[in-house]
Amino acid sequence: MAGEAEARVDLHVHSRRSDGLAEPAEAMEAARAAGLAAVALTDHDTLAGIGEARARAEELGLPFVPGIEFSAYDESGTTHILGYYVDSGDRELEEHLSEARSSRTRRAARMAEKLNALGIGLSLEEVEAQASHEGLLARPHVARALVAGGWVKSYAEAFNRFLAVGQPAYVPTRRIAPAEAIRLIHGAGGLAVLAHGGKTHGDEAIRELVAAGLDGLEILHPDHGPAEIARLQGLAAELDLLETGGSDWHGPHDSRRGQLASQPVPFEWYDRLRVAALA
Ligand SMILES: [Zn+2]
Ligand SMILES: [Zn+2]
Repeated sequence: MAGEAEARVDLHVHSRRSDGLAEPAEAMEAARAAGLAAVALTDHDTLAGIGEARARAEELGLPFVPGIEFSAYDESGTTHILGYYVDSGDRELEEHLSEARSSRTRRAARMAEKLNALGIGLSLEEVEAQASHEGLLARPHVARALVAGGWVKSYAEAFNRFLAVGQPAYVPTRRIAPAEAIRLIHGAGGLAVLAHGGKTHGDEAIRELVAAGLDGLEILHPDHGPAEIARLQGLAAELDLLETGGSDWHGPHDSRRGQLASQPVPFEWYDRLRVAALA
């Protein structure tokens, strides 16, 4: 029998409520099948999948961490901030998320218009068909609709020709600063963790986020090699930060990112996060 020291957790998982391919309940079933000892759901800018995921995880006897992944922006670029154990009933957070959601729908409509102007007859309905009902709309859904409609051969081609920054159908998204994301997470009783910052955030940038209240660093992630892991662990120890990790799973058929349980995230990290959230 495997000892607790060998138990693995995955604290970075997406479902169809944002840009993943599995329903929240299916993600929990996949987590159980992968032998995980605990799992989080961290959809982009929405908590819509949390209720369904929590209920299925409970049925499966799988410890569950409610989470979210905020996209934040400042002069230095994009910062993804994970929020763990946020209270989905927090009014300010809910208002922010519903505004972000309608702004994403407006953005998808604008992208479809731009594609139409380029002679591509893609409708907003075709984009919506790629997302789930309560889910938000993002560029991956537009890309998949372009593939489904035969307008491009691949998802990568959709981004390279149309949807990437600087391409003709790109529309910027509504922006919040990293410090604002941290403030919203704390306001809802959650813990804020810098996602996959190993290659994008230097020590100074991380220290600034910590000054703004950041609680932890995602150490283990498919984007991080041994050098990033060592640097981030050093900073976490020095600055007394929580450590997390996960696969950034987007579904069983998405080979671009990690598979569930592919990162050796120890059960202990989950346990410290859980205890910190109670404090
Ligand atoms: Zn991310
Ligand atoms: Zn992610």
